[in-house]
Amino acid sequence: MKILIKSISVFITLIFTLCPVSSVLSQKKVEEGFLGKADLYKAKKNALEYLNDSVIVKKFGMISDLIWNYAELGMQEFKSSALLIKTLEDEGFSVEKGVAGMPTCFVASWGKGKPVIGILGEFDALPMISQKALTPVQDPIIPGAPGHGCGHNMMGTAGIASVIAVKKSMELYNIQGTIKFFGSPAEETIISRPYMVREGVFNDVDAVIDNHASSDFATRYGVDNSAIISAIFTFKGKTAHSAGAPWSGRSALDGVELMNVAANYLREHLFYTYRLHYVITEGGEAPNVVPDKASVWYYVRNTDDRLEDTYKRVIDCANGAAIASGTVLDTIRVLTGVHQKHSNKGMAETIRRNIELVGMPEWTESENNFAKSLQKELGAKETGYPVKISPWREPSTVQVGGGSTDVGEVTLIVPVATLNFPGQVPGATGHHWSTVTAGYGSAAWKGLNAGAKVMAATALDLLTDSKLLEAIKNEFAEYSKTHPYKPFLPEEAVPPLDLNRELMEKYRNALTDIITDGK
Ligand SMILES: [Zn+2]
Repeated sequence: MKILIKSISVFITLIFTLCPVSSVLSQKKVEEGFLGKADLYKAKKNALEYLNDSVIVKKFGMISDLIWNYAELGMQEFKSSALLIKTLEDEGFSVEKGVAGMPTCFVASWGKGKPVIGILGEFDALPMISQKALTPVQDPIIPGAPGHGCGHNMMGTAGIASVIAVKKSMELYNIQGTIKFFGSPAEETIISRPYMVREGVFNDVDAVIDNHASSDFATRYGVDNSAIISAIFTFKGKTAHSAGAPWSGRSALDGVELMNVAANYLREHLFYTYRLHYVITEGGEAPNVVPDKASVWYYVRNTDDRLEDTYKRVIDCANGAAIASGTVLDTIRVLTGVHQKHSNKGMAETIRRNIELVGMPEWTESENNFAKSLQKELGAKETGYPVKISPWREPSTVQVGGGSTDVGEVTLIVPVATLNFPGQVPGATGHHWSTVTAGYGSAAWKGLNAGAKVMAATALDLLTDSKLLEAIKNEFAEYSKTHPYKPFLPEEAVPPLDLNRELMEKYRNALTDIITDGK
């Protein structure tokens, strides 16, 4: 691992030396943008100046691109987490590794005492969506291999860039408090945060800034996303010769299939905020042997108040299927349980002020040309990258259901809001090759850099303005009275460290060897 990290450092240094830095970021912002604003106090100005340096834009851009190349799936992010940790340790952060029983989970800290401000960061990829960088037609690097189809390569990197900028300002201006970065693995499978919460890693934290890559530059407050329980149901039966003596066997696969039939009939009678989907992970080896073991992996989603009832009804489907097939429902392995996201208004307003301060990056003609050619391929509007930040949006009063994030779990422990930073192409689809292809190179670098600026500025506001932080904490305390935290994760659940291991081993070496040229 040490040799690997060293070679990465050499690679990054080499790239700095070879590439001209002047073209990376327009310097216009320095002259007439946020640095000219009168309300900037010195510590904030210093952090923004640090991040505005084109050498620093490139440094973190290269880290993001390397993590993009590794494309490591959840729980297998060994190289990605090591690179982030090394960068933080080089900057003087102390890093606790293997947090909450997960080898790729870490917490980096600098400073001491209160207040404690945290930034969340992710770095895992998605299966099956390998794609060449900056190529506007589907063209995998390795067919079937993982790819960064949600921008998590940019997000962990933006997070470490921001805490490093904050630390430099805290040091220079003697600011009291602690800045932390929470390296959070396996977000795509919504795994790490409930285990981190259970371990108490957020207990001493006053406020947390979350971030996600986007085509937008925005934040919001209120309740969104779906709560989720992710569980693998395993049926046991009896083997037999499928043709010679099928009456002697009991097919575990029948158990799985009947469970799925029952769950699909259940849909009609679930409240419309639900989402229910599954994959069969184990279904026998060959048709001529009755399978005695079969497994199906379910995501059961609904609002916080309806999740447990929906999950119970899915378990009823499994039990009914076992009776009907003459098999046994052997185990239900809960991988994760997560609440909806409850974003804090005071945090979102603070982030919003800093989005307005930093402003949308300026995109070059070649970046916009790429975006337009991708949009054309996807049949989307050929607008290029966005020019302006979106208007502030009030939360929706109607719950419609949708995806989930394990950030939801943290939002019930400490005040949190999410920054969506730009860099992805409008019209590109999440968890799809079109997002993979655009998450690399100069536009991604600018986007994550703009995100790092907003997070650094927000963290410094929270560290230096005790009245602001107190108001945010009061809002959270009031909200907690009606939304007390009760985990969905069963006490006996343990992090599924084996998740994706075989799949990642299949592709790891081939992916690591590839250094694509982001230009
Ligand atoms: Zn994501």
